[in-house]
Amino acid sequence: MFHTATESDLRAGLLTDVYFRRTVEILRAHGADRPVVMEITAGDLPKDWSWACLCGIEELAAVCHGVPVDVDAMPEGSLFFPGEPVARFSGKYTDFAELETAFLGLLCQASGIMTRASRCRAAAGDRLLLSFGARRMHPTLAPVIDRAAYLGGCEGFSVIKSEELLGASASGTMPHALVLLAGSLVQAMRWFDETEPEGVPRVALIDTLSDEKFEALAAAEALGDRLWGVRLDTPRSRRGDMLQILKEVRWELDLRGYRQIRLLVSGGLDEHDLPRLNPLAAGYGLGTSLANAPTVNLGMDIVEIEGQPMTKRGKRSGAKQVLACDQCQARETVPLGSLRIAHASQPAPLPDPAPCPCGGARTPLLRPLIRQGEPVPTPSTLAIRERCQDQLTRYLQAHPEIAWW
Ligand SMILES: [Zn+2]
Repeated sequence: MFHTATESDLRAGLLTDVYFRRTVEILRAHGADRPVVMEITAGDLPKDWSWACLCGIEELAAVCHGVPVDVDAMPEGSLFFPGEPVARFSGKYTDFAELETAFLGLLCQASGIMTRASRCRAAAGDRLLLSFGARRMHPTLAPVIDRAAYLGGCEGFSVIKSEELLGASASGTMPHALVLLAGSLVQAMRWFDETEPEGVPRVALIDTLSDEKFEALAAAEALGDRLWGVRLDTPRSRRGDMLQILKEVRWELDLRGYRQIRLLVSGGLDEHDLPRLNPLAAGYGLGTSLANAPTVNLGMDIVEIEGQPMTKRGKRSGAKQVLACDQCQARETVPLGSLRIAHASQPAPLPDPAPCPCGGARTPLLRPLIRQGEPVPTPSTLAIRERCQDQLTRYLQAHPEIAWW
């Protein structure tokens, strides 16, 4: 039915770039297969981004199940910077060479979406963020988009199928079609209120047939205290200045005592639009900016062959670890060998690294993910999301010079 590949296609090696298949054939034919260390790193980031969030590690771990390889990676959702290895693979090259295409594909797109959601979260403060991006990409990807958006800081997501993955309920308001078919916003809101369960917030879409101000008042008068909010999805051609429209709607609602009715905004918004609207908006629906977020161009490279540092031009050789200070949030990429040598008298696992100059403890960010094809257990989606939010908040507080825009 769909022009998409399946998990079994991946297992059968059909989703690799053919040059990896040929390389494996050539190396095996010449007995040249050797143990290597490979790392996944972003040399730079898209647009004006100075940091990114890592998403897709959980699926990468699933792909590695049963593959004779050791993988250490930053945990799902981790903040990372250009040049930092986010995952490290140790094993015989031909055992995992053909998976490189899938590894990168899993991480690059989801990390872009999660990063965009995190930037919008930083821009929106504590206002509501809803992921409405499913319709902008192939439908089989909807849960991927919603999950990355959710981990990045969207409270809400719109697709029902995503509920299974995220363990939370899908949310939404109403489409213009309901207003058109009901004949008026007031009729649509009355039907909505009669039909939908009590727990579903009543949000009127106020830009379908008439001016936002008059539609907002009509919906407020029809539903009274039962109206949770109104959504403005004003078409670009009619938009003018969205902030002025919001101010006008707020004024008219407040004047009539409807101070509790929240204003939601959607339609082509990204993180750059939010700060200006924040004084009036209670939340945002984000679509294209999430689903069509730029991919993070991660690359996977050999950094060691048979234990010896070796890599291509433009990359740093040798297996690495990334250390982050728990207090000042300073980060450093160090040779993994230096940690081993510094503590050579001690057996594995490696002891804690030396403290940061500020006195804080430093945590190694690449942690065991796969040991000889066996995944190490990962936390729940909600726990990952909370950890990501905490990590980003602490980092941005410690580094106010690092802007989210
Ligand atoms: Zn420190």
